Amino acid sequence: MSFTYKARRLPRDPGPAAWHEILPPSKSYPPLDEDITCDWLVIGAGFAGLSAARRLRQLRGGDRVVVIDATFIGQGPAGRNSGFMIDLPHDVSSDQYTSSLDKDLWQINLNRQAIAFAKDVAEEFNLPQETVDAQGRVNGAVTENGLHHNAEYADHLTRLGEPFEHLDAQAMAELTGSRFYTAGLYMPGTVLLQPAQYIRGLAEGLADHVALYEKTPALTMTKKGQDWQVATPHGKITTPKIILAVNGHAESFGFFKGRLMHVFTYASMTEAMTSDQIKALGGQKRWGITPSDPMGSTVRKISGVGGDRIIIRNRWSYDPSMEVSDARIAAYGRDQDKGFARRFPMLNDLKMEYRWTGRLCLSFNSVPAFGEVDDGIIAACCQNGLGTAKGTLSGIAAAELATRSNSPIADDLLKADPPSKLPPQPLAWIGATASIKWREWKGRAEI
Ligand SMILES: Cc1cc2nc3c(=O)[nH]c(=O)nc-3n(C[C@H](O)[C@H](O)[C@H](O)COP(=O)(O)OP(=O)(O)OC[C@H]3O[C@@H](n4cnc5c(N)ncnc54)[C@H](O)[C@@H]3O)c2cc1C
Repeated sequence: MSFTYKARRLPRDPGPAAWHEILPPSKSYPPLDEDITCDWLVIGAGFAGLSAARRLRQLRGGDRVVVIDATFIGQGPAGRNSGFMIDLPHDVSSDQYTSSLDKDLWQINLNRQAIAFAKDVAEEFNLPQETVDAQGRVNGAVTENGLHHNAEYADHLTRLGEPFEHLDAQAMAELTGSRFYTAGLYMPGTVLLQPAQYIRGLAEGLADHVALYEKTPALTMTKKGQDWQVATPHGKITTPKIILAVNGHAESFGFFKGRLMHVFTYASMTEAMTSDQIKALGGQKRWGITPSDPMGSTVRKISGVGGDRIIIRNRWSYDPSMEVSDARIAAYGRDQDKGFARRFPMLNDLKMEYRWTGRLCLSFNSVPAFGEVDDGIIAACCQNGLGTAKGTLSGIAAAELATRSNSPIADDLLKADPPSKLPPQPLAWIGATASIKWREWKGRAEI
């Protein structure tokens, strides 16, 4: 008897992959067009999948590792986020970002291992300096509500024994060029990624030892004796072990059914600034602001290969279909324009060049969807909105678990409860949408 898992839907990435678009053309990888065998198949080439592939290469240098992705590497969610690789507690589903002291200490320790891995990748593959930029981040506050959030977060950091620095309005203006912020909380441990450059750089670094295929969706996975046979549109892959690194699309194969929340958040990136605009803005060359209220706007100023640009991200939606319309991207883009105009009145002639959205996967109890889900299939999914760090960790841990290596990270991830069951639809949709709208309304001044 053979059992088949069938992908009920395949990923669709709405809007352009801006971080990728601003880079010079790079190496591309062919779609699979023949039947092959391998020792390890990694499905999904985001943070989780590529980290798993690198760890497999380190642990099993002589083995044949294959990575497939349904779309183009660096253009899926891993290459279309805001690039904050955060060490500290940053639970986007909590009003304060934080959890209990024990849980937060546990998460900080894990996140720092992910950051060390990314720094190591940058060094090993000689990535440009702005790809993995260890410059910290600031929780920017605008209103009394924002100041209150920052004060609570600072208290929590003190209890955790973590360093931070209060910035006043003048210091915020010196950093960002904007007089919009009344205060900020600087935390040194965050790394700012150029996410597409990181993902592409990691893939390219691995390509000598790992076979990579783009535009190669896994359509079915069928158990045949000791092996799995994975069908893609133009070739089959036979392998004993699969690392499933597709984040929320685990549910598309039937895993964690009714337990994963498919959420989107929205962003816009300006065109490259002229030297006059750079002068008019002032401030530092590169910086990253996370909002003091989790529903506010994330803003980054970047400078490097793609020019000097500003990226602003806000708004959330819960879409169990995992699809979002272009009309929604345009509508929420108007909120990014408003947030931008309030912060940067001196740049009123700087236009947005790209607008997009991307999938996140959350669980109700903020835990990963991690571990062996069938004989030889290890899931490294559900990054709870912080996939740069948590995806990296789950990829490392999946490779260590699959090779039965000593793995403190896998041991830690396996201690978590499984993702809890969501209420049936449409109740889950009504509840989640009402909660997002209410929280966005409360935090609207920080957008
Ligand atoms: C606008 C935005 C801003 C964000 N900002 C941040 C941030 O600042 N910091 C942070 O930590 N996180 C952020 N995130 C979240 C982050 O992008 C995700 O958590 C992260 O990409 C998850 O990594 P992953 O490797 O698990 O999954 P993904 O990056 O989703 O990679 C999974 C891959 O699997 C592929 N796939 C799916 N199904 C199949 C199939 N059947 N066959 C083959 N391949 C398949 C997909 O094409 C995809 O490339 C943001 C997200 C968005 C959209």
